[in-house]
Amino acid sequence: MKEKPDIIVVGGGPCGSYAAYTAAKLGAEVLVCEEHEEIGAPRHCSGHLSVSSLRRLGLRVPQGAVENEIRGAVFWSPSGKEFVLRCRAPVTYVVNRELFDKSLAELAIKAGVQYRFKSRAKSLIFESGCVRGVSLKGEERVEANVVVDAEGCSSKLLKNTGLHGLRGSMMVKGIQAEVDRVEDVNDDMVEVYFGRNVAPSFFAWIIPRNDGSAKVGLATKVSAEVHGETSCSFQETEKKQNHIHFYPSHTLGWSTPQNVFRWFSCSGRCGFPSETHNRRRRHLWDNMR
Ligand SMILES: Cc1cc2nc3c(=O)[nH]c(=O)nc-3n(C[C@H](O)[C@H](O)[C@H](O)COP(=O)(O)OP(=O)(O)OC[C@H]3O[C@@H](n4cnc5c(N)ncnc54)[C@H](O)[C@@H]3O)c2cc1C
Repeated sequence: MKEKPDIIVVGGGPCGSYAAYTAAKLGAEVLVCEEHEEIGAPRHCSGHLSVSSLRRLGLRVPQGAVENEIRGAVFWSPSGKEFVLRCRAPVTYVVNRELFDKSLAELAIKAGVQYRFKSRAKSLIFESGCVRGVSLKGEERVEANVVVDAEGCSSKLLKNTGLHGLRGSMMVKGIQAEVDRVEDVNDDMVEVYFGRNVAPSFFAWIIPRNDGSAKVGLATKVSAEVHGETSCSFQETEKKQNHIHFYPSHTLGWSTPQNVFRWFSCSGRCGFPSETHNRRRRHLWDNMR
């Protein structure tokens, strides 16, 4: 690579790696700056991805990263009514996000992209009103003609450009646990729960894997303490992992007049029964906290 890349991508998540891969295929020299020491960690996502979207992007999930194939969803209304949508063919994959992210990075690397790890972009470098690169933690400067901001839900660099960044109203808090030995859940259907009592402002989910375990989560604007119930499906479960992260409730992409492109994605799915659904169902959040 030349001393100065054409493009710096900040963030080695799926959006960053895919943007880097696309630009490299078009002939650009691309450097991805990732703050962590490896791609895909720490994990913070259920990895429930639409088959048709992946197809449209021309992406194949590596076989080892597919944890399940899902044919539909059971939606639970706040009053406990059930609505089932089931398709003949799989409509979504449950993927291991760490492996998925790594496979995207490998694709980008094959296309010529370079990655720098433990390289947190602290701020943008401006010259004559245009962005000319980023300052990394530790005061090192890396210059480029274009910066792609793929920081995920953080708005640090975006605010640097004078734009507002993601408003609190566009964010929900996401919490997820991976649990074992889930009962009463179809292994090829996700469950999605709505309602003030269980998932105020967004929804909760159960995403089964094909080995009897599941990813169980909640995205909401309020703290987890208000969620007093959980499914009897989890009575015998063992919590394997917890992830807490912010979650943009909108999909956005825009460019600023200053050579900065901002991109992130979000998608949704799945759940918990509310109090009104079933009094027998107990509190998972105690376990998740
Ligand atoms: C609990 C939970 C469950 C979710 N489940 C799903 C799901 O099933 N399906 C789905 O489609 N979406 C889901 N999402 C949303 C999904 O995780 C995000 O939409 C997706 O990860 C966004 O990808 P991204 O590349 O924009 O950001 P991220 O995946 O967040 O990647 C951003 C990367 O940038 C790095 N970074 C950030 N700032 C800097 C910086 N200043 N310098 C250098 N590096 C930086 C980070 O370390 C990270 O690697 C979920 C979110 C949560 C919280």
